[in-house]
Amino acid sequence: MFEERLSLIEDRIMVASRRAQRERSEVRLMAVSKGHPASVIREAAATGLRLFGENRVQEFDTKRAELPEGIEVHLIGHLQSNKVAKAAAIFSEIDTVDSLRLLERLSVAASHAHQRIPVLFEIKLSNEAAKTGFAPASVELQQAFEYAVDLEGIEVRGLMTVAPFDANPETARACFRRLHALRDEFTRLHARLNLQELSMGMSGDYEIAIEEGSTLVRIGTALFGSRGART
Ligand SMILES: *Cc1c(COP(=O)(O)O)cnc(C)c1O
Repeated sequence: MFEERLSLIEDRIMVASRRAQRERSEVRLMAVSKGHPASVIREAAATGLRLFGENRVQEFDTKRAELPEGIEVHLIGHLQSNKVAKAAAIFSEIDTVDSLRLLERLSVAASHAHQRIPVLFEIKLSNEAAKTGFAPASVELQQAFEYAVDLEGIEVRGLMTVAPFDANPETARACFRRLHALRDEFTRLHARLNLQELSMGMSGDYEIAIEEGSTLVRIGTALFGSRGART
């Protein structure tokens, strides 16, 4: 079952890449394993998947002892300030930096641990109250980039967003296009930053995201079934 789903997703990623005249190798597949036990990650890793996404520090901390070597796990959920040190210690990358204050705290935690943490800035491109992220036109986002250029312990690798829930896929497309344009704009403004990652696209909209330049699609349900009710 899992391998069939994976192979279907792989086909679709391939077709979408081709449609956009991109190479398959330009798009990484992140398996979003939140809500599933460590055994599910082991099973997926056994088929060759190497990149996973988890949204809670505590949940991942309890699973990680049972995980195989050689996988990369990113935090893709909101990070609370009291969990920054823990998150910096256990995740390979933090993809949800959504405030200047969090960026500062991560830098301190990384410096103390003599680490360099790769991060993405999360951008909020919808009006949904429940969503987190920097407002795209905010002074805070500009400051975060200016600050990040010389910040110890942090490597800003790009941007991440979650498209709004909307039955019309073109709503997601507009949002992905906007994230891509923002990335290009901040690359022009800060030539020393290497903003290559565009983490966008989930189970319902990853093909559109690939057409719009996504370099990393985050797929949970389409790969593992619905959370809490494994099939
Ligand atoms: C849960 C989650 C995903 C995966 O969502 P699916 O619709 O199950 O593919 C991707 N990104 C983030 C930030 C998530 O929280």
